[in-house]
Amino acid sequence: SPAAQTANGRASAKGVKLGPTQCFIDGEWLDAVSGKTFETINPATEEVIARVAEGDAEDIDRAATAARKAFEDGPWRKMDARDRGRLLYKLADLVEDNLDDLARLEVLDNGKPIGEAKSADLPLVIDCLRYYAGWADKIHGSTVPIRGNHFCYLRKEPIGVAGQIIPWNFPMLMVSWKWGPALAAGCTIVMKPAEQTPLSCLRMAELAQEAGFPDGVINVVPGYGPTAGQGILDNPQIDKVAFTGSTSVGKHVMREAANSMKRVTLELGGKSPNIIFADADLKQAAAGAFVGLFLNQGQACCAGSRILVEEPVYDEMVETLTDMASNRKVGDPFDEATEQGPQISKEQFDTIMNYVESGKNSGATLKTGGSRYGDKGFFIEPTVFADVQDDMTIAQEEIFGPVMQIQKFKDVDDVVRRGNTTNYGLAAAVYTRDVAKAHKAAAALRAGTVWVNCYDVFDAAAPFGGFKESGMGRELGEAALSNYLEQKTVTMSLD
Ligand code: NAD
Repeated sequence: SPAAQTANGRASAKGVKLGPTQCFIDGEWLDAVSGKTFETINPATEEVIARVAEGDAEDIDRAATAARKAFEDGPWRKMDARDRGRLLYKLADLVEDNLDDLARLEVLDNGKPIGEAKSADLPLVIDCLRYYAGWADKIHGSTVPIRGNHFCYLRKEPIGVAGQIIPWNFPMLMVSWKWGPALAAGCTIVMKPAEQTPLSCLRMAELAQEAGFPDGVINVVPGYGPTAGQGILDNPQIDKVAFTGSTSVGKHVMREAANSMKRVTLELGGKSPNIIFADADLKQAAAGAFVGLFLNQGQACCAGSRILVEEPVYDEMVETLTDMASNRKVGDPFDEATEQGPQISKEQFDTIMNYVESGKNSGATLKTGGSRYGDKGFFIEPTVFADVQDDMTIAQEEIFGPVMQIQKFKDVDDVVRRGNTTNYGLAAAVYTRDVAKAHKAAAALRAGTVWVNCYDVFDAAAPFGGFKESGMGRELGEAALSNYLEQKTVTMSLD
């Protein structure tokens, strides 16, 4: 296949600056050892954007060797923590300086609406990098009063080389969630971006190079899961794996990581309940429920995909949400007015359409949508199902698309029990004006995040992650630092 090129300066049909398309290893841009490449597709047009180096286990090993060297001998672990922080601040500044270009690159490769990329993804990336830049020189241990004439203290040390595997739904944001805490903690990185969306991650690596990160500290190897991703899981030079993606691959990651006892953090899927009580501010509840499901074309791990509405306001809420979905503007993601772009791939499009068929066949009421939108690109009409029952497949499985399920409930205890019935536990929301009811539900719901009278409110300082099969460990906040730190106990005799 044709070689990947350093496509910097080359512009795509939409005039987007493409950035690099090779592997980034030890500060160099390299073709895959095999010479193979793969296509990355524009999901709005189904056209090929670029050919990208297809790394596999050999490239991962080169990257891991570079990361190991940068960790053991290189300047990274020995650098003043404050200077590591300064590099992260510099990277954040460069992202800010290039915000428009980066947003357009993300839209081209991922299909998300430009307005969202500019107002949500990019600002969150910048915040995240700055937040962890600030942590770099604030990671310290403690002293422990132990028996006898001893001085005992605890050190927090970086785990070492972090292998990071990320998905395609928020490509650049996932880069920042993974790089921020790892770099602040003093780890070095081997990252594999999703095969659907490698471009913004590679461009971020280029910006990191410009910021002055030493060679080998950040390495990026694009490629597929079972080859490059598996290469991370198998590589003995990698000490830790951080994975975001599907629960099934997450379980595989955990099993494989056990072979060399890699530390593991997982951020996986969900089927999050969005509970609307009759006493809620219904306008606020509808807005939260709507964004909670339709944000990012429904491709969010924390999508509030089970809307549970209390009986007295059920009909009204179904009509409001149906109206909102029917009026959503679907189309060219480069158009500032667009609210919903295409799904990421033909594969995801087919999976979602199968769920829509399943919903129709199981007796749920299709209120709006349910079909492909247009005849080019992976667009799906915003879809709403009402009268959904707990035992229907669409109420149980993650659809990861713009398909809303609305259900009815009669009392608080019942709705909390139903909210907790899936194996997932990533997020939940409650809408009510009754403070006691809100706190009671927030405590009873088995989820890593509970939003009250809002949805999808993210902040770099607030931890995020799953109960049950939605994951392990927490991203963001101080909590994420511990994913990249080992604790060492030092005991010294004072005799
Ligand atoms: P996936 O889990 O297959 O892919 C996520 C990442 O893991 C990608 O980088 C992929 O290359 C890599 N990967 C895949 N197989 C691997 C393996 N055997 N070893 C190591 N790495 C591997 O997700 P997908 O196929 O892109 O999407 C399928 C479903 O996953 C979606 O429908 C959705 O339900 C879920 N998903 C969840 C998230 C999330 O944010 N939690 C993100 C994307 C997808």
